[in-house]
Amino acid sequence: MAQKTIFELDLVRLAIWHRRCSIAVIAIIVVWVSAIFASIYNINNPNISYGLWAFHALTMLVAAAFVFSTHRAMGYSLLSGLLWAFFALLIPFLVLLSISSTAGLILRLSGAKTGTFGVSKDNIDRIRPHHCRECGYSREGLELLQECPECRRVPQVI
Ligand SMILES: [Zn+2]
Repeated sequence: MAQKTIFELDLVRLAIWHRRCSIAVIAIIVVWVSAIFASIYNINNPNISYGLWAFHALTMLVAAAFVFSTHRAMGYSLLSGLLWAFFALLIPFLVLLSISSTAGLILRLSGAKTGTFGVSKDNIDRIRPHHCRECGYSREGLELLQECPECRRVPQVI
């Protein structure tokens, strides 16, 4: 079964999942760094290690769910999504990071700017169908190759 091209994807849905993956990646790093500091300062509180185990279990589940949904939003098949969700259970952080970087690449190729937390709210209109890729203005009612009334950009046809 053929995969979808970039032009057939729901980019807004992908942007939402990309943002969730980016936030999850940052959350994991923050907890790891905190855990390293806790061990450096020799905090022998058993609650911290229980907390870390609970966090690790949560990470696996969240990573599997996020990786599956992001993979589906990138137009891959159900089977491929399930396979990657399984990988995410084994190595949650790396799979989450890899899927987040692939999704970010697709979004940038589609004209969106991505920051630390994914595509910003000001930028999301630029990847909506029938909106200007430069400024996000709605192109409803305009001719295919007519320039944007807001920013004068002429759509590129490739
Ligand atoms: Zn424009």
